[in-house]
Amino acid sequence: MNKSDLSQSEPLFERALKVAPGGVHSPVRSFKGLERAPIFFKSAKGAYLTSVDGVKYIDFCQSFGPLILGHLDEDVKVKVHEMIDTAWSFGACEPYSLELAEFITAQIPFVEKVRFVSSGTEAVMSSLRLARAYTGKTKVIKFDGCYHGHVDSLLVKAGSGLAGLSAASSAGVSQAVAEETLIAQLDDEAGLERIFQEWGHDIAAVIIEPLPANYGLLIQRKDFLKKIKSLCAKHKSLFISDEVISGFRVSLTGMSGDWLLEPDLVCYGKILGGGFPVGCYGGRKEIMDFVAPLGPVYQAGTLSANPIGMRAGLETLKKMVALNGWQTLNERTSYFVKQLKPFLLAKNLDISHFASLFWIHERVSDSKPIREITSIPQGQGEKFKTLFLKLLDEGVYLAPNAYEVGFLSLAHTDEVLDLAIQKITKVLSEMK
Ligand SMILES: *Cc1c(COP(=O)(O)O)cnc(C)c1O
Repeated sequence: MNKSDLSQSEPLFERALKVAPGGVHSPVRSFKGLERAPIFFKSAKGAYLTSVDGVKYIDFCQSFGPLILGHLDEDVKVKVHEMIDTAWSFGACEPYSLELAEFITAQIPFVEKVRFVSSGTEAVMSSLRLARAYTGKTKVIKFDGCYHGHVDSLLVKAGSGLAGLSAASSAGVSQAVAEETLIAQLDDEAGLERIFQEWGHDIAAVIIEPLPANYGLLIQRKDFLKKIKSLCAKHKSLFISDEVISGFRVSLTGMSGDWLLEPDLVCYGKILGGGFPVGCYGGRKEIMDFVAPLGPVYQAGTLSANPIGMRAGLETLKKMVALNGWQTLNERTSYFVKQLKPFLLAKNLDISHFASLFWIHERVSDSKPIREITSIPQGQGEKFKTLFLKLLDEGVYLAPNAYEVGFLSLAHTDEVLDLAIQKITKVLSEMK
């Protein structure tokens, strides 16, 4: 079979372009800037995706992280099928979300109550509203290089004027909304202190990805994250840990639990729904009780706590616990990275990783860890394009963007990884 055969995918993309902007329902899927039409996939199992053209790919995207057990896990599938035969949605009280909520609150010490929603974006958006209501303050600090979903007030970047001031990073976000967000730089304690000095009286919350993994993998120092917490405590602002990507990925209790970050609110998504649309925000009782119907913060959802997502998520987490899946994943990822690293270095590339997340990037001259976006090498986009396309032809699928990270799942067994290593090193050896 010709690995570059796109004879079925290409006409589908032509059709998709007519009915959806850019042919897609989320931008990165379009392969923009990669000089190739996106591949259409028809099925997936374990570590593999199969295209409509019948080509199999080892998948290191895993739907951008949710599928920690791999595609179509057999145990999760049983629970999903059972639920599909039982009910699809109640719009009423049911025991399924109760079980997942009890599981989370029993496992995660800083989460006493949760509210389920249908996406990570909704979780973040609702947590900001809650923080404003609870503190009676307005502004939110976000970090350049962190992604928190497509919430208006967080689609902002550093402005050109005074430190901390922001500008919209998407059309359609009003200046008034953008101004509610202040921008800080990752790994910069002094900068954050300056923003607090100036605006501390009106800062409702600081939100951060404790493991920033949406603009490369920008691993933070624990001390920096702890400093955020202490500044928040001092200024009576809430510390929101956005663990939509890292939660249940790095471990059961996530970065916030492992590093004892003591967030006031935490956001989850991705893995929590086991591949179905589920998000969640949670925290201490006294804060969460501000949410309707108990409190004054309105937040609702027709399909919230959808039972299929609740069952898939709970089974995913229980299975990870039963198998001690995180340890296996971390060991396999370390092995994978260690095998690839010398071949990447030889081509002036490098690989960073944390738990089962990895990111291939241009080599940094002084080999210092990349902790903020200004340290990301300039040639990142071009290098990635070459590597990505050659890997596709070899049957290895990375997330189709230079700034997206890769994920291992438990379905990436030693055999799958050895095959992937063989394919990747072959591609690297052929690269100039
Ligand atoms: C994916 C992600 C979101 C958004 O979640 P969606 O389900 O795509 O809305 C928010 N924050 C972080 C850290 C994410 O990785």
